[in-house]
Amino acid sequence: MDSNSLVEQIINAIKSVLPAAEQIALHEPCFVGNEWAYVKDCLDSGWVSSVGGYVTRFEQMLAEYTGAGYAVVTVNGTAALHICLQLAGVQPGDEVLMPALTFVATANAVCYCGAQPHFVDNAPDTLGVDPVKLGDYLQEIAQLKDSCCYNRLTGRRIAVLLPVHTFGHPVDLDPLQELCQHYHLVLVEDAAEALGSLYKGRHVGTFGLLSALSFNGNKIITTGGGGAILTNDPELARLAKHLTTTAKLPHAWKFYHDRLGYNYRLPNINAALGCAQLEKLPEFLAKKRALAEKYQAALAGVPGVSFFTEPPFARSNYWLNALLLDEEWASLRDTLLAETHRLGIQTRPVWRLMPELPMYEGCPQRQLIVAKSLQRRIINLPSSSHL
Ligand SMILES: *Cc1c(COP(=O)(O)O)cnc(C)c1O
Repeated sequence: MDSNSLVEQIINAIKSVLPAAEQIALHEPCFVGNEWAYVKDCLDSGWVSSVGGYVTRFEQMLAEYTGAGYAVVTVNGTAALHICLQLAGVQPGDEVLMPALTFVATANAVCYCGAQPHFVDNAPDTLGVDPVKLGDYLQEIAQLKDSCCYNRLTGRRIAVLLPVHTFGHPVDLDPLQELCQHYHLVLVEDAAEALGSLYKGRHVGTFGLLSALSFNGNKIITTGGGGAILTNDPELARLAKHLTTTAKLPHAWKFYHDRLGYNYRLPNINAALGCAQLEKLPEFLAKKRALAEKYQAALAGVPGVSFFTEPPFARSNYWLNALLLDEEWASLRDTLLAETHRLGIQTRPVWRLMPELPMYEGCPQRQLIVAKSLQRRIINLPSSSHL
């Protein structure tokens, strides 16, 4: 097989799935429901900012949809992660375990708490944290003392395990939960990409003590910018609301704030968009699944590549479709990216590994064999639900 003809075959397969258009974006929002009506309602009533009926309504809809006890909406997903980690007890100087292959916000949120990310390898079957490797690693480095887990190499406490559901594909949560129990780690899920994804029939983001969602413009539903904290614990939900709303004690006119809080609230006008978008989520999910099936079928006969599909225990939202080049053809990635862009098809390489970014160079890490391989081989394909 020569590389030119392979590139041609891959491109033809991708083109066969997509409509003939001059430009096809990687991911575009879709506003075909009540978005105009609800946003107009905000403008007509004047309730556009930090208070209003859509905030509570969106929170209730999210809790109901995911099956989480509580949802607290925030200004974005990164802010949601920051508060999740604080409420999970992350202290300055702690370490937080997370996959090396993720979006930068996962690591940034850890640093906002004064803690340090500790990078572990991803698994080829989920693209998320590899539970088997993590188990072996913890056996090597973990030291339990006073119901806390310490890294014997650095002497720091490891407070939290923060797995990511990459591109919406659920990680294998059962073995991760077992590790958390055994090593006294708090499980916090970065479910920013995974609204609508299930692990063994249950919505992701309801397994951790807390978890974060994102409604950024490129996610499966969008509020322009926005996020949410999910938890089943009523006290944590109350604290999440308190911390994200400047820690102000409720009073008709007095200003009293009882701790350091944040202005992380989601404006009502954004929540209005969220309500309308969430009404459409079942439709988006069905369309995305159909699109993924088309990609899978089109790429099935093409040598040298595979299309990433959900692991057997999961039902994925197929937020962002991914093609994987075989190891021997990884060098074709940049040609494929250039060629698809030339044709107006917006594709993307996956993120750089976190420890390759200047601010995370010195962080503790395990061997990242799979993460490094995935990093060179993944190409994200156009995934908007209207495709
Ligand atoms: C989008 C995203 C976030 C952050 O969400 P924002 O709303 O953009 O702040 C965090 N983690 C992952 C994995 C994401 O994809």
